Amino acid sequence: MNIKFLGTAAAEGWPALFCQCDACKRAQELGGKNIRTRASCLIDNRYLVDFSPDTYMHKLIYNLDLSQVESCFITHSHSDHFHPLDFEMRLDGFAHIKDRIPLNLYGNSKVKKLFDYALSGMDFKDVVNYHLLQPFDEVEAGDVKLVALPADHDKREDCFIYIIEINRKTLLYGHDSGYYPKKTWDELEKYTFDGVILDCTFGPKDCRSGHMGLSTDIDVKNRFLEIGSAHNNTKFIITHFSHNMKLMHHEIEKIAKSHGFITAYDGLEVEI
Ligand SMILES: [Zn+2]
Ligand SMILES: [Zn+2]
Ligand SMILES: [Zn+2]
Repeated sequence: MNIKFLGTAAAEGWPALFCQCDACKRAQELGGKNIRTRASCLIDNRYLVDFSPDTYMHKLIYNLDLSQVESCFITHSHSDHFHPLDFEMRLDGFAHIKDRIPLNLYGNSKVKKLFDYALSGMDFKDVVNYHLLQPFDEVEAGDVKLVALPADHDKREDCFIYIIEINRKTLLYGHDSGYYPKKTWDELEKYTFDGVILDCTFGPKDCRSGHMGLSTDIDVKNRFLEIGSAHNNTKFIITHFSHNMKLMHHEIEKIAKSHGFITAYDGLEVEI
C-alpha cells in the first residue's frame, strides 16, 4: 500500500492563513518541510482520505490525476477535512473524464448534510454517490475493506478514524482524535496493523482529549505493541501539526524519531 501525505497541518495550515506568531514566521522563512497544508492522504492513487480545502493545490504541486480517485473517505465535517464546494468541479463540463464512473463519497450524517447544503440544486446523480456511515460500519469500497470507528474528537457528530485494508495490508488512519475510546480499542485489538497514522496536533505539549500530543502518541504506540496489534515493522506516523506546537519539522522529527515515529511532511510517501 502506498500512502502519500498531501497535507500535514491542522485546520489553520502552517504558516496559518491570518497568523503573525513566531512559529508561522519561522516556518515561512525556513520553507521546505515546514510548509504544511491542510491534511489529507492519497492511497494507491485511487483512494483519498479527507477532502482538504487545499486539494486543488495538491493536484498542482504533486502532479496528481484526481479523476482516478474512486472513493473518498471523510473522517468528519471540520473545514480542514471536508471542503464540499469543490465537488462541483466533478460535474460534466467542469470535468471531462473518460469512462466516467461516480465518485464514492463516504462519511457521517453531518458530512452528508454539509454536502447537500453546499451543493444544493445541483444534480450529482452518476457523479457522486454518497455512502452514509454509522460507527462500527464495515464496508467494501473497490479493493478496500473500510471500518469506521469512533474517534475522541467532536461530540456534535460521529467523527471517525478508519481501518483501511487493501491486499492484506492494514492501515489505521487515526486522526483527528484524542486517546481512543474503549469501544474503539475493543475493535482495534482484533487487527494487526502495518501502518498507524496518529494525531500530533500539539507536538511536545501534553494533549490526550480531542487531539493528541507526542506523549499520548507514545502511549497509543505502546498499547498497540502490548495488545499485539502492531508488529516489529509496523510504521507509526505522526501528522496534523498545529503552529501552536511551535516546533519546526527537524525539531519535532528528532524527538519523534527517538520514540520510533516517522514525522509526516507534505509530500511524504510511505509504503506498508
Ligand atoms: Zn483537523
Ligand atoms: Zn501561527
Ligand atoms: Zn477536526
